[in-house]
Amino acid sequence: MELNSPIFSLNNVGPAIAKKLKKINLNTIGDLLYHIPFRHEDFRGGMPIKDLQDGLTMSVAAKVELIGSRRSFKTRKMITEALVSDNSGSLRIVWFNQPYVAKIIEIGSDWQFSGTVKSDMLGPQLVNPTFEKKSAQVVNAAKFIPVYSVTAGLSQKLLRFLVEQALEQVKKIPDWLSEDILEENDLLPLSAALNAVHFPADKHDLENGFKRLKFDELFLIQLRAEIARRGRLTQKASVLDFKEKEIKDFVDKLPFALTKPQKLSAWEILKDLSKQSPMNRLLSGDVGSGKTVVAAMALYNTALNGLQSVLLAPTEILAKQHFDNITRLLSHLDVPICLYTRTQFAKNNLEENIESKKLKKEIVENLKEGKIALAIGTHALLSDKIEFKKLGLAIVDEQHRFGVEQRNDIKQKGKGVHFLSLTATPIPRSLALTLYGDLDLSVIDELPLGRKSIMTRLVEVYNRQKAYDFIRAQIKQGRQAFVVCPLIENDSNDKKSVLAEYEKLSKKIFPDFKVDFLHGRLKSKDKEAAMNKFKNKQTDILVSTSVVEVGIDIPNASVMMIEGAERFGLAQLHQFRGRVGRSIHQSYCFLFTDSTSEKTLGRLKFFEGNLSGFKLAQKDLEDRGPGEVYGTAQSGVAGLQLAKLTDYTIVKMAREAAIKAADNLDKLPLLKQKIKSFEKQVHLE
Ligand code: ADP
Ligand code: MG
Repeated sequence: MELNSPIFSLNNVGPAIAKKLKKINLNTIGDLLYHIPFRHEDFRGGMPIKDLQDGLTMSVAAKVELIGSRRSFKTRKMITEALVSDNSGSLRIVWFNQPYVAKIIEIGSDWQFSGTVKSDMLGPQLVNPTFEKKSAQVVNAAKFIPVYSVTAGLSQKLLRFLVEQALEQVKKIPDWLSEDILEENDLLPLSAALNAVHFPADKHDLENGFKRLKFDELFLIQLRAEIARRGRLTQKASVLDFKEKEIKDFVDKLPFALTKPQKLSAWEILKDLSKQSPMNRLLSGDVGSGKTVVAAMALYNTALNGLQSVLLAPTEILAKQHFDNITRLLSHLDVPICLYTRTQFAKNNLEENIESKKLKKEIVENLKEGKIALAIGTHALLSDKIEFKKLGLAIVDEQHRFGVEQRNDIKQKGKGVHFLSLTATPIPRSLALTLYGDLDLSVIDELPLGRKSIMTRLVEVYNRQKAYDFIRAQIKQGRQAFVVCPLIENDSNDKKSVLAEYEKLSKKIFPDFKVDFLHGRLKSKDKEAAMNKFKNKQTDILVSTSVVEVGIDIPNASVMMIEGAERFGLAQLHQFRGRVGRSIHQSYCFLFTDSTSEKTLGRLKFFEGNLSGFKLAQKDLEDRGPGEVYGTAQSGVAGLQLAKLTDYTIVKMAREAAIKAADNLDKLPLLKQKIKSFEKQVHLE
């Protein structure tokens, strides 16, 4: 018998039951063992009948005095009634529609009954209790009874019975963790751990069982990542010389001095590029920390080596902005750059205006011929049409917006492509390793000098006018403001929408200012026009949906006003806030909400008091889980059922153990086998 033996190899599982088990995805012995009870009922020690109280879930050990079944006159249900007693008193029991009970339980025998007490006029009564023959073992054992999720026709009792059988079998299955790993991490052997999560002796035992199973999950994920990392190191990549002189020249010509972590990250990246194996690195830095210029250095260095690179952005607006910024940064250098999105095409060294369709065709050809060194764009660049002559480096901005598939697609555009992801969602190192696996990490944990911290206020409803007055004063001083709303149009819940706020602000509140709006349903040329007008200060106030969430860089904007703030996660609010405070101007973030929920207000207050994206992400992670924080692509981290990414201690333990195990894998055949089947399982998910 093995974990993947079919479930019908257990006693009492015929086709009918197997079918029902299949309904809740229980097909193998392993499925059953990993069908973890969602809680345990505490039935430790029987209670004297005289002490039973209404509503208590308890068990009693008692002798059966009377038992019999009858059909209810009114409801036609079978009713089985019993009278049982111990030396403190007697108790009525009733079962509905379980006539077999009367056949099993004999008058005069001793049983343990477990269930919830319901009192009526005649005193206490147990309804539909579970029952077990009172043997010495049952009475002596302090017991937690597992409660499983089941489906119609499957009883808790049957499931417990099957799990007990499976647990008996699992004793024969060798543990894939070696004695050493168990000992070093103070873990239960597999069969003991499974026993403990189903039938724990006590709370401590239960915790230990869970610890082992969580460790398994986190360990396998990290071991797989570590193996992938070592595999990557044996792959061949294009070796890109670190062109120190040119890079230094580039840095000297920047209008600002790089921060220390910017320099360090750039150095780590450029060093990776010069290696023989492909880079796979995540550059994490808070909003406004200046990741773009670091990326530009890597892109430039690749061009200097005569290879092509690609920079992928999640939205057209962002792609266009990157194109503008990077062409500006590299304007004094001879690097042919193109913009390629679904609807926008451009080249930096274009002499005359070319019609868009023609330009698109030309770009596709140029990329293939290697005449363009750097392609900046969106998903459109992933299309099969796009081929590169020799792609050396791929960079993905705001990487959580891309799925694993897309990230792989871009790597497929060349051989041994170096890969860099950028993210503004700060992530603890150990989490990055668990979430993104085979990855090295660079962190920009310092904002450029002279940035003033953004003053953040959760504004009371009655202070709305004051906030408007404040915005007015800011605009009079030459600044600009964003207003972010959760929706484009009002829905029935009457939430704040872009169109309604635009009406109100442009007509009633700020008729003397230039107000414009932006949302995802606009045509891309209208979106671009709105962005350009705002960038060129032709617009004072831009009302927008979350499309301004990522990356948008308008240094002159100093106010971010967020309507319906309760609708956004903390990390997302932080992204909005990061749209301002990008220059020397003191900046402000105002939050509005109609919510009166204490929890929501608490969350927004936390945001008000915390400027660190790292702390906010951590809180989001704890409150809302990784899917919300790191994007839908990671909503269910493959391979994690019991463990959470916030189980920091176990994450760390598992990490260290995984590195050690990767060193010794040849001496751990069972583990090797396990990781292979895990690979398959994750792949299927
Ligand atoms: P993010 O990391 O959020 O992508 P950006 O790369 O858009 O940030 O940079 C934000 C702004 O800061 C840009 O206007 C950029 O030119 C500027 N910037 C970047 N690095 C520095 C620096 N070392 N000193 C001053 N300004 C900088
Ligand atoms: Mg950015």
